[in-house]
Amino acid sequence: MSTLRKPLNPEHFIMNLVNTFSSALLLAASITAVSADEHPVWTYTGEHGPAHWSAVDHGFAACEIGRHESPINIENAKPAPPKYPRLAVSYKTLPLDILNTGHAIQFQAQASDSKILLGKGEYQLQQFHFHSPGEERFGGKSSDMDAHFVHKNSKGQLAVLAVQFNIGMHPNRELQKLLEQIPAEPGKEQKMDNVRIDPTALLPRKRGYYTYDGSLTTPPCSEGVTWIEFKQAVEISQDQLEAMQNYYRGNQRPVQPLNGRVVYEVK
Ligand SMILES: [Zn+2]
Repeated sequence: MSTLRKPLNPEHFIMNLVNTFSSALLLAASITAVSADEHPVWTYTGEHGPAHWSAVDHGFAACEIGRHESPINIENAKPAPPKYPRLAVSYKTLPLDILNTGHAIQFQAQASDSKILLGKGEYQLQQFHFHSPGEERFGGKSSDMDAHFVHKNSKGQLAVLAVQFNIGMHPNRELQKLLEQIPAEPGKEQKMDNVRIDPTALLPRKRGYYTYDGSLTTPPCSEGVTWIEFKQAVEISQDQLEAMQNYYRGNQRPVQPLNGRVVYEVK
């Protein structure tokens, strides 16, 4: 059955226009950069992409005005002075929860005694997550994927260990355990009490690194983060890379200016 539309009289026509206009206004007002749970929405492309992160939320100002931002392109590193605090990694096998953040796959360390030392400074492992391609550039080039191991000391200061992954002959066994447990839905967290992971198996054998003073590579882009970038990459298989890229591909912030910072090399 069909209904015939009544012809609009001019008054109705005006009212309809007004209604349409106010609906459009309401719609425009509701399309702000805030999601249903009030977290400001930022992305890696388009109008809320990296060039506009500071406009998404007042708290993200450092993304634009920060002078010590990450990631950077690493070249022309200087040898670290002898007194510069050296890295020691002390990771233990531990249970993890997996969080699909909407921007990356993140593995949350449950209370653990996994830590790194920088000189005498102690930083506890909080979480690690993956970017593809890798965010750091080495002589202008990215790796296929990286992992950022985020640590915090008792003062709340952050130190991030960055590991590069490239496609090679062999899969990484520890990474495989993680890939099998990832929750597909953004915002979901998966408890993984039955799987224990040794994060050491995700690190390169040779522990030479670059280090510099930088920031979070995602909003709020907070500075004061000590970065440690292992020079040797870890091998993964094509299948493993694709499995991670099925969740997130292109979650890579553009290179940020060095602004006079020095990058040190530790052999
Ligand atoms: Zn990261």
